[in-house]
Amino acid sequence: MNPNAVYQKCIHADCGATCDVGDVHVACPVCGELLDVVYDWSKLPVPARLADFAARWAGRANPLDFSGVWRFRELLNFCDDRCRVTLGEGQTLLTPNAGVGRYVGLKDGGLFLQYEGLNPSGSFKDNGMTAAFSHARLVGARRVACASTGNTSASLALYAAHAGMQSIVFVGSGRIAFGKLAQALDYGALTLQIAGDFDACMRRVKEAAKRLGLYLMNSVNPFRLEGQKTIMLRVLEALAWQAPDWIVVPGGNLGNSSAFGKAFGELKELGLIDRVPRLAVINAAGADTLDRLVNQKKLRWNGGQYDKAALAEDWAWQDRTHRLPHTIASAIEIARPVNAAKCLRALSICDGVVRSVSDAEILDAKAQVGRCGLGCEPASAASVAGARRLVEEGVIDRDARVVCILTGHALKDPDATVGYHTGRFAPGKEVEGPRNFANLPVQVDDDIDAICRAVGE
Ligand SMILES: *Cc1c(COP(=O)(O)O)cnc(C)c1O
Ligand SMILES: [Zn+2]
Repeated sequence: MNPNAVYQKCIHADCGATCDVGDVHVACPVCGELLDVVYDWSKLPVPARLADFAARWAGRANPLDFSGVWRFRELLNFCDDRCRVTLGEGQTLLTPNAGVGRYVGLKDGGLFLQYEGLNPSGSFKDNGMTAAFSHARLVGARRVACASTGNTSASLALYAAHAGMQSIVFVGSGRIAFGKLAQALDYGALTLQIAGDFDACMRRVKEAAKRLGLYLMNSVNPFRLEGQKTIMLRVLEALAWQAPDWIVVPGGNLGNSSAFGKAFGELKELGLIDRVPRLAVINAAGADTLDRLVNQKKLRWNGGQYDKAALAEDWAWQDRTHRLPHTIASAIEIARPVNAAKCLRALSICDGVVRSVSDAEILDAKAQVGRCGLGCEPASAASVAGARRLVEEGVIDRDARVVCILTGHALKDPDATVGYHTGRFAPGKEVEGPRNFANLPVQVDDDIDAICRAVGE
């Protein structure tokens, strides 16, 4: 047992090596598996009840109380206030949505959308970046880097600009939605467009980080996940601390789902909740590694003794078969999810399930979220499409309370949205399918009679 109140620990039960909170590792220095941030709660101040956090609302003049992440700082207490980097992230919204609820097939009042697009850079990634940048400041990092399908780079570039650090982002050439690329450039990141997909960028950024001493901000960084735990705290808060029946989240690199599982595991351990919601992680059909690992290969967490070799075998099989991920939901176009093992733990803690949905289902669900008055980017709508699938299957009860996480803002990927509504997708991004809720723009002559006819007299 590490004598410190907070330390890092290898997640594989056969290893369990520990290191200090101020060490910088992207993997266990002993066995190469993922690291966790671990708290010895007996040595840390923890509130008696979750409802006690509500008092922080009155202190909103303090940026740490204003932040929807640091408001819960006792539950991610790995650095002191001086290190904490915040941009007021986490001012997000949990809202019931009757229209999307009907689409999903739930009884009235059962469906809630947690809209993380309201974060400063427009996606949930800010929850993680505020935490990882705080760790970067703790260890004195000056240059930070990540590989990204888009939102991680946007968020990293924003926080680096705010914190006065230099940012370097690795993106797959032509694989990043325009809104996200625009952000990385605007926030001043050195933007490297690598001829390859996300998984290639991930490999390269790890090598470059090692050689150049860059601080790596991908979700292999365990501190990011600490920040992302607070998405669940805000969901609970908005539901008056009553856990919903289901949390449904899109799965890419599986950082979010992993963080959610960790949050619920810790809250249960602390006695701050008595019931853990079930978790559904939704892959895109064109990037369905987790679905395959869990549902076909029956991979399980197994008390931390998960089968490492099975993961390596799947990666090798992808190599041999030249299998590449392909989905319109670019944020989850990932074939080798770095947090797969942690996600297995989350599925175990939350009695979770995994499904994959087609691009056509994703875009239909996205159009429903827009038409029902909120909007999101394609990957986010996988949660809604997945919930609908699970209700159809009878896995989710019609009278359940279900929270779908909308991970990113509607304006992140305008090409996909316009492609869906007009039927003219960008080259290489075509989606086959009925486009059930397409809202075609109408061409009208510059003539008032024609315009009035088009509007409907
Ligand atoms: C990053 C991202 C995801 C995937 O989240 P993971 O934690 O990598 O599973 C989903 N949706 C959006 C909008 C994202 O930016
Ligand atoms: Zn280890």
